[in-house]
Amino acid sequence: MTVRVDLPGRAYDIEIGEGLLDRAGTFLTSHLRRPKVAVVTDANVAARHWPAFRESLTRDGIESEVLVLPAGEGTKDWTHLVRTVEWLLAQKVERRDLVVALGGGVIGDLVGFASAILRRGVRFVQVPTTLLAQVDSSVGGKTGINTAQGKNLVGAFHQPVLVLADTALLRTLPRRDYLSGYGEVVKYGLLGDAAFFDWLETSAPAILAQDPAALDRIVRRSCEMKAEIVMRDETEEGDRALLNLGHTFAHALEAATGYSDRLLHGEAVAIGLALAFDLSARLGLTAQEDPSRVRAHLRAMGMKAALADIPGDLPDAEGLLALMAQDKKAVAGRLRFILARGIGRSFVADDVPTDAVIEVLRNG
Ligand code: NAD
Ligand code: ZN
Repeated sequence: MTVRVDLPGRAYDIEIGEGLLDRAGTFLTSHLRRPKVAVVTDANVAARHWPAFRESLTRDGIESEVLVLPAGEGTKDWTHLVRTVEWLLAQKVERRDLVVALGGGVIGDLVGFASAILRRGVRFVQVPTTLLAQVDSSVGGKTGINTAQGKNLVGAFHQPVLVLADTALLRTLPRRDYLSGYGEVVKYGLLGDAAFFDWLETSAPAILAQDPAALDRIVRRSCEMKAEIVMRDETEEGDRALLNLGHTFAHALEAATGYSDRLLHGEAVAIGLALAFDLSARLGLTAQEDPSRVRAHLRAMGMKAALADIPGDLPDAEGLLALMAQDKKAVAGRLRFILARGIGRSFVADDVPTDAVIEVLRNG
């Protein structure tokens, strides 16, 4: 199935389905001006999926060169950006050529950024291989790297010309990464589609079993919602901020745990979603039982749902609040949260009272 991201002059399709990579040539051909692509991936993905992808390209008469980078967040840095750009130049990639990012959010963000700056912008295709990348990072054109000053502080808006989300690739994903990506799926239901959240609740067993029809639906609905928001507000002047539901808390928790294996991004988001509902309930915006409903679903999925679920020590409530104030989304030092007036009804709230946030952090 296809979800269209209809941006003026930069429209593209997100193709979603089981086994799409075996037919990659069918989708790529119309974007190719010569039958050759430069593929960048990471070592984990290369070991599992590159041989089949290369074979399918060859079958369709498309030549390919590949750069295999180390796996992990550490690859989203200046060193690997330089390495990628230099490699693409050495491959004589020109503006008419196509770069393919085959991997999770790390590869997608890095290779998207490399494509944005190479020759002032070359076209690139996202082939997301993690659930997080299929439902979130491969769509919407945010690309970038981390620096010593913080995460995602250097980057560019650069939309792909195509996203190929093959849900079969998720079978090789470690369980923990799969569930972490699922945190972003829950986010879409909570931020804008109560019926989707209802369906997630009743479909937990099928989602846990990675049932193909369930996977199709969660990737499609997530991409539709992200596409719709990005079409309204590509560069985050307004509504795109809704995609940050749970993220003000999540970024503080990730900072507190050193962006390490202690807490993956989607795990932090899941806890952040519960805390955003705690805060909304405390401010009388959403029903008192909504936070427990959010936590019950996360627990049914075997996910972390509260601060106490994070291994090791955390800063106290004041310490976490200080980390939030440093977040790049804090506008002029004021705390911005995405809150909810019920499940599926989120909105941007500036100037949230600090004492309510502290209470939530003490009890969450
Ligand atoms: P990731 O790319 O590091 O992938 C997670 C792990 O899974 C890695 O070890 C990877 O090698 C491995 N892997 C990937 N696909 C696999 C597969 N099919 N089978 C087995 N192993 C596989 O991490 P991620 O969670 O995909 O992405 C996180 C990154 O995404 C962060 O840097 C975050 O900032 C970024 N992000 C960007 C956006 C955006 O809009 N651009 C949105 C959300 C997150
Ligand atoms: Zn996120």
